[in-house]
Parts: sequence; structure tokens; C-alpha cells
Amino acid sequence: MKSAASGSNSVEIGKHNRHLVLDVIRTHEPVSRPEIARLTGLTTATVTNIVGKLQKDRLVEEVGLGQSTGGRKPGLLQLARNSRLAIAVDLAATELMVALTNVKGEILRRSKREIAMDIAVTVPRMVDAIKEVMTCPEVGGATIVGIGVTTPGLIDQATGTIIKSVRLDWYHVPLKSILQRHFEVPVFVGKDTATAILGEQWYGAARHADNLIYVWVGTGIAVGFLFDGRVYAGATGMAGEFGHTSIEWNGARCKCGNEGCLEGLASLGAIASKASCRALSEENAVTREHPVREARARVDPFAVLDAACIGDLRAREIVREAGRYLGVGIANLINLFNPERIVIGGQIRPKDKEFIDTAIEVAKSRVLPEPGSSVTITVSDFGPDAGLIGAAALVWREILASS
Ligand SMILES: [Zn+2]
Repeated sequence: MKSAASGSNSVEIGKHNRHLVLDVIRTHEPVSRPEIARLTGLTTATVTNIVGKLQKDRLVEEVGLGQSTGGRKPGLLQLARNSRLAIAVDLAATELMVALTNVKGEILRRSKREIAMDIAVTVPRMVDAIKEVMTCPEVGGATIVGIGVTTPGLIDQATGTIIKSVRLDWYHVPLKSILQRHFEVPVFVGKDTATAILGEQWYGAARHADNLIYVWVGTGIAVGFLFDGRVYAGATGMAGEFGHTSIEWNGARCKCGNEGCLEGLASLGAIASKASCRALSEENAVTREHPVREARARVDPFAVLDAACIGDLRAREIVREAGRYLGVGIANLINLFNPERIVIGGQIRPKDKEFIDTAIEVAKSRVLPEPGSSVTITVSDFGPDAGLIGAAALVWREILASS
């Protein structure tokens, strides 16, 4: 009994050490064997042995030589870029985005389709787009290890089911099992804000932060929480519906049934809606021929943001108003949670300065002095790829943990 117990114990220790080494290579690459030994507390002999196996499994590769500390120059290691690849799917954008990614979250190939309200229409499009990138020349001789999907709404993480997405107008959609019927590789489904935080933690602004709030601004608005280095999902995994916090007590009715929701005042959808209403009132004053729905469908929020960038006064006014509402919301978040960093991301782009600067200016002017002085507000470097990069991180986190 004793030898069996210690045998399984040594297997567990071996697995633990392998993950430790993989994690240090991921977070410190390119890194030498002696440096890995120093960072993990393992002996150089153990590290050399583990690295040998990781190289044999094509999980790790050498990328040159580091600085010598007396003897010969040590080889530098990184995660292997092309032996394994993952598929990322973003349902939180205005279109269905699919990408082929490597372990660094780099996008090697992308494809997109239109998202339909009808799930029966969208699923075949999604399957088609995934198959397209799975068979593209960029795959080469690599193995596809998994599919990561990021989606808005309330998600049951355990089953990969979208319980309720107001934005997609989807309810009780078992997305993981639907996709699993089409693909043999494992499928992982995550909520947009939680996966965006994961993407920032693995590849972006959150690499060195433990208390961070990610503010996702897109068609809707949501937040992701990283508290003490862990993603906070709430009692039932549904935290972060920031867009449906009511900030105008008598505001317009939202799709969620509430009134005066932040999403209806500060999102890209709100910018498009406001721009189309103004265009409509001008057109109607002349012709009275344009129905509301038609006019709304024509407005691209990015065109309004671009127009604001080059100084169009009406666009600036619309964008600044949305930015002011977001700023008030961000100040409330800072007062409530005292984060060290706020990252504004989602579909908003670093170049949307009129919107972002207004939001930051208002947030700083409204926040209490103490939490306000210790917080940094930045913009995600990923721009509209934030969802895809988060979905990729979702796959790599699971795959590396089980490798
Ligand atoms: Zn709402």
C-alpha cells in the first residue's frame, strides 16, 4: 500500500513540476534552463529533464542563446509556436469572427460571417467559418488542439450553455454540445468579459496586475473582474452585467426590460442609435420619407467615431456624450471596488480618443480622491481582436494545464 501511494504521489509531483516549468516558460520566455530552475526552485537537473520531455512533445522549442555567466551561453526556450494551433470564435462582436491562433495569441488567419438572431441560421455559418480556418494553408503540419468561443450574456461555464444573451437574443443555447457534434477537438465556451480578462492576463495589460476591472465596450457594455489574481464570476457565474445597471431613473427602455441602462447611453449601439436619430430628424425635416428602422440600420458606430476623430462637430457631440456616461459608470466602479487598474477594451479601438479621453476625464473628476489616486485607466492594445485573443487564451489555458 505504501509503495503504491508514494508511486502515485511521485506521478502527481512530476505533473506539478512539469506545469510549473511550462508556466515559467510561458510567462518569462525566452528563458534559459538555469533561470527556470531559479524561478521554480527546482534543481537544474530536474529542469533539464522536464524540458527534454517538453521538447520531445513539441510543446517547447529553443530560440537562440542567452548571456553567459562564465561558462558557455545557455540555450533560450519558448513555447513552440507552430506545432499546436487553436481556433478562436468571437460572438460578442458585431459580426461572428473566427481566427486561427498560436500559443502566443497571435492571429494567423481570420474569417467572419454575419450573426443572425436565429441560432439555426448562425450555427451552420459558425461551423463553416471554423472549417474554413481549420483547413487553411497556415495550419501547415500543426495539430488543432481546441476551439474557444467567447460570447455575451449569462453563461453556464460547466456545460458551455448560453443561458441568456439579450444582445444575441439567444436563450438556453447549449453551444458547447452543439459545436462538439461537429468537431472532435474540445470546445470551451466563456463569457466575453471573463475571457477578455484572461486574454489581458496572458498576453496584455493584466500580466502584472492582481486587481483589475475590464470594461468591455461594444454593441453592449459589460465588465470583467480580476480580484487578487482570480477572475471573479459571481455566485452563479453571472457577474459583470454593467451595461444593465440603471443610471437614468427615467431613461429609455432597454431590451432587458429595465429603463435608463448604461448600455443604452454609452455603448457603440447607443452611439449608432443617437447618430441615426439625429440624421433621421434632419432628413424628415426635408422629405419625411425614411422609416426609423431603416435609418438605424444604416449607421455604423465606427463611422461616427471616425468622424469625431477628424473633428466633425455633431459626431464629437454624440461620442462625447456617450463617453461622459461611461466615465460616470467607471467612477462608480472605482469607488466600489478600488482596483489598481481599469482596462477599457472590447470593440473600442485605441484610436477612438474622443470617446476614451472623455470617459477617463469624467471618471477622474467624479471618483473619490483615494481610490482615484491609486488607479490607472488604460486602453486594451488588442482593439476589436480582444474577444478572439481572449477565446484563444481560454483554449491555451486548458490545453497547457492538461499537457
Ligand atoms: Zn438593460
